[in-house]
Amino acid sequence: LITVDKVNKHFGPAHVLRDVCTHFNAGEVAVIIGSSGSGKSTLLRTLNRLEKHDSGTIVIDGIPVDDNPKHLKALHAEVGMVFQQFNLFPHLTVLENVSLAPRRVRGLSTAEADQRSMSLLEKVGMQAHSHKHPFQLSGGQQQRVAIARALAMQPRVMLFDEPTSALDPETVKEVLDVMKGLAASGMTMIVVTHEMGFAREVADRVLYFDKGCILQDRPPADFFDKQDNPRIRAFLGQIS
Ligand code: ATP
Ligand code: MG
Repeated sequence: LITVDKVNKHFGPAHVLRDVCTHFNAGEVAVIIGSSGSGKSTLLRTLNRLEKHDSGTIVIDGIPVDDNPKHLKALHAEVGMVFQQFNLFPHLTVLENVSLAPRRVRGLSTAEADQRSMSLLEKVGMQAHSHKHPFQLSGGQQQRVAIARALAMQPRVMLFDEPTSALDPETVKEVLDVMKGLAASGMTMIVVTHEMGFAREVADRVLYFDKGCILQDRPPADFFDKQDNPRIRAFLGQIS
């Protein structure tokens, strides 16, 4: 579904992605880990064109990731993203946050968009809060709304960049449970996270990033239980 071929990205003198090559199949859940500054967020952001890569090619569901406005429009519909900070629109209600894009971009009527949005809010356990504003919600609740909002475009791929890092420990589980449900429903997911329990339980692959390169790409059982790289073992020791 997603092909990444020899992708490079610089920020000034910093070479942040170095000839990154990988492929993600439909329905796959990949977890990306690695030390701070290794390029994890940058890779996610190049996948939906929040950042431009300097060289190499990315193709998602047949759409080349480039500056062609047609491709960008298609890409926006195909790829949903959830950030560490939930980025909900503060002046809109929960329901309006979720229904905005389907109305504006997909051209649904308000009634259709509201109906679809309510069923998504139900899926993430937030239907009872549809009339509230983001400031009235806990972090975990806001993040579940952000997931519903991303799903409202009916994407084929969901990208998550440390979705639980800004949450209180008590609310991490409710967000991870929603993500587990999404994975079980067959969604293609690429998740940057420090939640190793989630990686072990849900991921098909764990990718370890190091200085802009994918140093390892292995099934979680292998990655965690047969880890032969002393540096990665040390990294895992630090975060768990
Ligand atoms: P973290 O675990 O801290 O989130 P990361 O693996 O996600 O780290 P990136 O955010 O992808 O790392 O950053 C990779 C490198 O690129 C870092 O050295 C960072 O300082 C640099 N960088 C990222 N975004 C920009 C930017 N917009 N302008 C300049 N440098 C940037
Ligand atoms: Mg990051």
